[in-house]
Amino acid sequence: MDKVDAVVVGAGVVGLAVGRALARSGRETLVLERETAIGQGVSSRNSEVIHAGLYYPAGSLKARLCVRGKELLYAFCASHGVAHSRCGKLVVATEASQLPGLQALQAKAAANGVHDLRWLSREEAQALEPALRCEAALLSPSTGIVDSHGLMLALQGDLEAAGGAVVLGSEVLGLRTTAEGQVLRVRAGGEEMELLAGLVVNAAGLWAPWLAARSEGLDAAHVPRAHYSKGSYFSLAGRAPFGRLIYPLPQEASLGVHLTLDLGGQARFGPDAQWLENVADPDALDYQVDPARAEGFYADVRRYWPALPDGALQPAYSGVRPKIHGPGEPAPDFRIEGPAQHGVPGLVNLLGIESPGLTSCLAIADEVMARLAA
Ligand SMILES: Cc1cc2nc3c(=O)[nH]c(=O)nc-3n(C[C@H](O)[C@H](O)[C@H](O)COP(=O)(O)OP(=O)(O)OC[C@H]3O[C@@H](n4cnc5c(N)ncnc54)[C@H](O)[C@@H]3O)c2cc1C
Repeated sequence: MDKVDAVVVGAGVVGLAVGRALARSGRETLVLERETAIGQGVSSRNSEVIHAGLYYPAGSLKARLCVRGKELLYAFCASHGVAHSRCGKLVVATEASQLPGLQALQAKAAANGVHDLRWLSREEAQALEPALRCEAALLSPSTGIVDSHGLMLALQGDLEAAGGAVVLGSEVLGLRTTAEGQVLRVRAGGEEMELLAGLVVNAAGLWAPWLAARSEGLDAAHVPRAHYSKGSYFSLAGRAPFGRLIYPLPQEASLGVHLTLDLGGQARFGPDAQWLENVADPDALDYQVDPARAEGFYADVRRYWPALPDGALQPAYSGVRPKIHGPGEPAPDFRIEGPAQHGVPGLVNLLGIESPGLTSCLAIADEVMARLAA
């Protein structure tokens, strides 16, 4: 049986960042990916926003790793020539009744160490963005956008420069613990084989609970049930009337239908939130955007941009959030579980890595390294 120091399951932005950190620590590292290209999962179906860290409970992994990850990500993009823009965003209160919510968000951000938010009156906000309708807004200057594919290619480049490799078309079917390390059962090229690894990091995104359930010796208490929340996007035909990202106040399962810009200045709206229940496994997910959902988008967007013309929204794409909680349940933190949490040597599971996972990827990698050293 072949043996390597470390295997990461999944070549999304998180798996690649973790693989890069492992390879740079001197370990012989493989990143195994079931698809035939990197970044085909959640990492290619998101808003590509570098979040500032406003929304998450103080002290949570989401808060800590987002704020730290943002700084690491801006520095990485600058040093590796990854396209990005620190374009800023406005979070808007569209009704006077939302002003306390906006104030609470500013306080939450401060508790997370984000002190650069500026409270803008209606007039100040409209001076920056004349097409905007709001009662007041928070300006977040450290929010930005990033080319997620460029980022993943740069992470892969670093991983390979440090002696690691990404192996495509290789699906990990299960794990078992032995005295020598973790034995992975892998299907590649139509054949099944075994591989021995000193360390395994499960960064399988939507599949992470599925793989955790197939890890012999892992207590069921450490295998959350997978839930899926679909987010659809609509793109705007024509020129974007805004130079910054525009967000409503956050809602129960999402940040609300917001306006993001791509690096070419094209605007898109989304994602909305639609729970998908009774999905057998992530291969059964339907990513089609239902054109009928546009109706809800027009209503949501016109709260902050009343001049949105009829017929301007086109179905674009969708993504599915890898949730580990169901409808109506409180949103849990990222679950980063190593030997100290679950007792299985040499295994780290990354569960529920939804937003802000893209922003946090480099900080998540540091956290995984810390859990392995503990
Ligand atoms: C609609 C939406 C909008 C979002 N917007 C933002 C945003 O603006 N900013 C932000 O910071 N975050 C955002 N996120 C979150 C962010 O996209 C994710 O947290 C991040 O991409 C997760 O990366 P990952 O590597 O964990 O997962 P993935 O990218 O899904 O990678 C997992 C990989 O594992 C592979 N895999 C699965 N099972 C196996 C197996 N058994 N063997 C081998 N390979 C396997 C998959 O094929 C996949 O390539 C958003 C998410 C969604 C859904």
